[in-house]
Amino acid sequence: MPDLSCPRCTSPDVRRFAILHKQGVTNSDSTSYAIGSVGSDLASGTISTSTVSTTKLARETAPPARKDVVTPGFFTILSALGLFSTFGMPGPWRVRWLVILLVSAPIFFWRRRYNRDVVPGLMSKWDRSFLCMRCGESFEQVT
Ligand SMILES: [Zn+2]
Repeated sequence: MPDLSCPRCTSPDVRRFAILHKQGVTNSDSTSYAIGSVGSDLASGTISTSTVSTTKLARETAPPARKDVVTPGFFTILSALGLFSTFGMPGPWRVRWLVILLVSAPIFFWRRRYNRDVVPGLMSKWDRSFLCMRCGESFEQVT
């Protein structure tokens, strides 16, 4: 591992985005004791809460997301089937299926290409990204 330091303030206290993201997303179980009065009686109980909290830092250091291809893929297939099954039939449904197909198919192919061509690059860039704990500068590790 090469020596890492912040390009802005030269501080060696830098952390990888992947670590920061992991630290920021926490599962916390907490039990709190509550007491209050209900009418003239005193009521008490425990409240258990389980929360997944995401800090602002975790969101900023989140890995790049893949685009959803399932939804447009589903509509592409559905509208193709719809178009096929209404073939030769009069009525507005053929036009509707055609419109759905013309909208969902390009989205599907564009997203699939994005996931294949763009996401890996973003992913490796994210993997090389660091944040300086002293000045807050984020930078990419140059190898
Ligand atoms: Zn710095």
